[in-house]
Amino acid sequence: MSNLFDDAAKRASRYLESLNTRSVAPKREAIAALARFDQAFPDHTSSAESVLAELDEIGSPATMASAGGRFFGFVIGGALPATVAANWLATTWDQNAGLVVTSPINAALENVSLRWLKAIFHLPSQSAGGFVTSATAANFSALAAARHMLLARAGWDVEARGLFGAPPLTVVVGDEVHASMLKALSLVGFGRERVLRVPVDAQGRMCFDEFPDVDDRTVVCVQAGNVNSGAFDPIPEICARAHSHGAWVHVDGAFGMWAAAAPARAHLVRGVEGADSWATDAHKWLNVPYDSGLVFTRDPDALRKAMSIGGAYLAQDEDRVPYQYTPDFSRRARGIEVWAALRQLGRLGLADLIERTCRYAGQFAEGLRAAGYRVLNDVVLNQVLVSFGSAERTREVIDRVQRDGTCWCGGTVWQGHTAMRISVSSWATTEADVERSLAAILSMAQ
Ligand SMILES: *Cc1c(COP(=O)(O)O)cnc(C)c1O
Repeated sequence: MSNLFDDAAKRASRYLESLNTRSVAPKREAIAALARFDQAFPDHTSSAESVLAELDEIGSPATMASAGGRFFGFVIGGALPATVAANWLATTWDQNAGLVVTSPINAALENVSLRWLKAIFHLPSQSAGGFVTSATAANFSALAAARHMLLARAGWDVEARGLFGAPPLTVVVGDEVHASMLKALSLVGFGRERVLRVPVDAQGRMCFDEFPDVDDRTVVCVQAGNVNSGAFDPIPEICARAHSHGAWVHVDGAFGMWAAAAPARAHLVRGVEGADSWATDAHKWLNVPYDSGLVFTRDPDALRKAMSIGGAYLAQDEDRVPYQYTPDFSRRARGIEVWAALRQLGRLGLADLIERTCRYAGQFAEGLRAAGYRVLNDVVLNQVLVSFGSAERTREVIDRVQRDGTCWCGGTVWQGHTAMRISVSSWATTEADVERSLAAILSMAQ
């Protein structure tokens, strides 16, 4: 057994070391070799060692090198070494995180992490939090909490009776709402099209002038950190207006919420703590392994009752029971990695991670502008949108950058303009990575 685990650790270390010299995107041959996995279901048992060797030999080359410092696609981030190691140990423990009795260690570390996270985001200390799979799941869970609360106030028990015949709720989103928010709306039965869309400005922020009338049957979904521009909706103004009419404000802050941790960026999230619920990711900017999202609600009952099993919520345990705050019952112990990241980084390390990645984004923007290319967004955070001319030419440059393999950036369409998106979200990115990547991008663009 110990040989197997030593071998796994050696293979993992070797993989991480290889990232400095290999192409960020996997080579075509490596992807073609995945066909070797396409075998008949074996009759006979193999050794664990041989299974691991097969996985490493065929699998490792066919990975995207998002664990390294030159992957800038989507908003992804890497995994801090302390969190990978904590994940190995916690996986060895094989804890079921749903109950305190099945994993006292996870329950304890969820409590500690929640306390720290609420302080980082300036959320009210009584807020409830849940360790979910993703920001999508966090948006879903928060909407379920909003649905519970607004309908309970209207005298409707939605968990028992469903939405059939329920008083209708109105949902407000910005025109630049993230697709996952719309998915979450569809999952909770609100419908992805049955929404009021507020027009946005050139950075994708809701225009407060055009904010609709809301009431106590309205859920307003705002954004802290647009996935393309990194921009923030005018959240304090929206909260003030919405709350004066009894509406619920939910913040999708998948990565943007973390701006709160860096003193020079914290002004961007000012007033976010005034909302009723929040969704964020730990697997993006906090750099913990997948999957790891976080949901918070100001009123702890809202989340607990929305996630309850039958009438069980009536009996509130003395201890916080993890499954009462998530859609899952049995699940892995995500709180352990979140704790490891925060415990290792500390306040200053976290501030440095956020600030450093924002600074690198600024460095990309400067270099691209200096070479004569158009940066489409105000680079306030870690996101950069650049156009290399026409849509066709921009797509061609993106394709060449990806095939070159020095770094990896994806494409997007920003308010009608095709752009390459650079998201600097990884702890592993260094100044040298930025310089090397910028040089590669500029050379591919010529
Ligand atoms: C990434 C992102 C999401 C979805 O997050 P997942 O963890 O991939 O589900 C939602 N909203 C915004 C603004 C995002 O950037």
